[in-house]
Amino acid sequence: MPTATKTEFEPVIGLEVHVQLKTASKMFCGCAVQFGAPANSLTCPVCLGLPGALPMVNRQAVEYGIRIGLALNCQIAHRIKFDRKNYFYPDLPKGYQISQFDEPLCFDGELQLPIHDESGQPKVCRITRAHLEEDAGKSIHMEGSTLVDLNRAGTPLIEIVGGPDLRSPEEAYVYLNTLKRNLSYLGVSDLSMEKGSLRCDANVSIRPRGQQKFGVRSEIKNLNSFRMVRSALEFEIRRHQQVIESGGTLTQDTRLWDDEKGETRSMRSKEEATDYRFFPEPDLATFDVPREWVESVRLSLPEMPEKRLLRFLDDYKLAEADAEYLVGDKALADFYESALKLLDEPRKVAAWVVGEVTRELNDRNASISELKLTPEALVELIGLLDAGKLNNITAKEVFHAMVEAGEGALQAARRLNKLIEQDEGALSAMIDEVIEEFKDRAVADFKAGEEKALGFLIGQVMRKLKGKANPKELGPKIAARING
Ligand SMILES: [Zn+2]
Repeated sequence: MPTATKTEFEPVIGLEVHVQLKTASKMFCGCAVQFGAPANSLTCPVCLGLPGALPMVNRQAVEYGIRIGLALNCQIAHRIKFDRKNYFYPDLPKGYQISQFDEPLCFDGELQLPIHDESGQPKVCRITRAHLEEDAGKSIHMEGSTLVDLNRAGTPLIEIVGGPDLRSPEEAYVYLNTLKRNLSYLGVSDLSMEKGSLRCDANVSIRPRGQQKFGVRSEIKNLNSFRMVRSALEFEIRRHQQVIESGGTLTQDTRLWDDEKGETRSMRSKEEATDYRFFPEPDLATFDVPREWVESVRLSLPEMPEKRLLRFLDDYKLAEADAEYLVGDKALADFYESALKLLDEPRKVAAWVVGEVTRELNDRNASISELKLTPEALVELIGLLDAGKLNNITAKEVFHAMVEAGEGALQAARRLNKLIEQDEGALSAMIDEVIEEFKDRAVADFKAGEEKALGFLIGQVMRKLKGKANPKELGPKIAARING
């Protein structure tokens, strides 16, 4: 039996997230920001770094930066200053990147996460800073040679640096999802990890629980999805622990995540780290950020998800999981509220959006804006169901068909011949037919007090009507017929 207690370690995680801003033009020139254009077609002397070319600051990018900063509860700097970050890389034509070093646009913010910390308080992660910079181009490695596409060079980025406040890979995962959700409300970026408009690097160290001093840190790069961030952190925490427990020494380094092998490998150690020799960008003067500008941006912010969630719970009395799900996707929550304006039945409409609408979105891997469905059509469908013109099963069939064709609910129901006709005579005749057919069996059973037999008879009538009836209404009618 081991007698010594094992040291319990606590991970310390901080994330750096790069967000590409969805401006029309680049950070310091008029070239278009566009994904997928022919290589090197969106360039000019400024973003190619040709001698003598002078940069100019994109006002929209600064405004998007302020928007992000305010949404993350940051302070906004009183002046804008840019700095040169010097390093050499083939996709960096100038030999330096224009960034912000000692005076970031946004600082001292925080992001509240929908989870609780150990003391039961809502978990809050500090936002140390968020600064503007330009993106580099792209190196494309092909069969022994490397091609460079400079279309992306000069695209505006904001780097959001979170504080070392996350204590598990799961918290890091929640942080990223919450950050992405909140940014999606601002309309400032595509936020696509696939297209590279959202990128993340993770810093991680471990320390004995209770110790204040940070342990030796690793920075992990090449993380192409939030899932990879979580896996890489899990791996790295285990690795740190193993090194410490086996008496080894950790060295501060930058590591690459290999998703296929499920491991990180060292890219460079601290000793090899580049000295960026930051200095103020001489081609750009500093300029003031008037408080009126900041306040007008603040006024233009939408209702943010935390507030919207509380409103959905209070006003619409939704289940927490449904409210959280809807609020997680601004466009879907907007769709839901548009439908509510047409039909004031919050829980009923939510059930459809969380249920069938979501199923369609998942099946098609689409967003609500890509789905051929209007709030009007959904409300029309719910109306047909409520009026007894469709039943629960046919309503789903009609819903699927109307989304497929992009048509209204009534139109789709007619096309599929699913509308329940209120022809009482025909219905009565059908009921009589079934009673006659099963008089010695189910009907006799029902008369003998077997309630289950009624369900069987309902099923028979439904079959004859090809599903175009409401089973709930059929039951009493059949029962009355037998008993009468
Ligand atoms: Zn350009």
